[in-house]
Amino acid sequence: MTRRAILIHPDPRLKKVCDPVTAVDDAVRALADDMLETMYDAPGIGLAAPQVGVTKRMLVMDCVKDAAETPRPMVLINPEITWSSEGLNSYEEGCLSIPDQYASVTRPAEVEIAWLGLDGKRHSERFEGLWATCVQHEIDHLNGKLFIDYLGALKRQMITRKMEKLKREMART
Ligand code: ZN
Repeated sequence: MTRRAILIHPDPRLKKVCDPVTAVDDAVRALADDMLETMYDAPGIGLAAPQVGVTKRMLVMDCVKDAAETPRPMVLINPEITWSSEGLNSYEEGCLSIPDQYASVTRPAEVEIAWLGLDGKRHSERFEGLWATCVQHEIDHLNGKLFIDYLGALKRQMITRKMEKLKREMART
């Protein structure tokens, strides 16, 4: 397993609609391992393939926050939202590609997701709470959408300018 570099916004690869994964092969399995390692190391609760520069429809997540609980690493390939609740939920969201910036985003409180697993089989599950927020945030990444796209233009531009400055500082060191 290798920790991969996480792209920081703004980056054209974070704005792309990603391509479906056509086969669960060794490359996809290796990418899943790397993405999980990168996510846990960050640390974060979700990571989408475009965030490590691979514009494929694939994400990993583990929203088990309590260290006493058993981790639940999940790999979702070609995930689709098949149902969304009318009830909404607001969460203070952040993103590994937009470090140290947080804002409240409102989304459906519950969603049903269908995806292809690393076992090559189709899975389906209903998510709620933090899991529902996380999976929707990560699926947005596969469509080139970031959580700051839900904010007003002024707030979004302010965050983008901070990230441009951060990237200049990172490039210098
Ligand atoms: Zn994100």
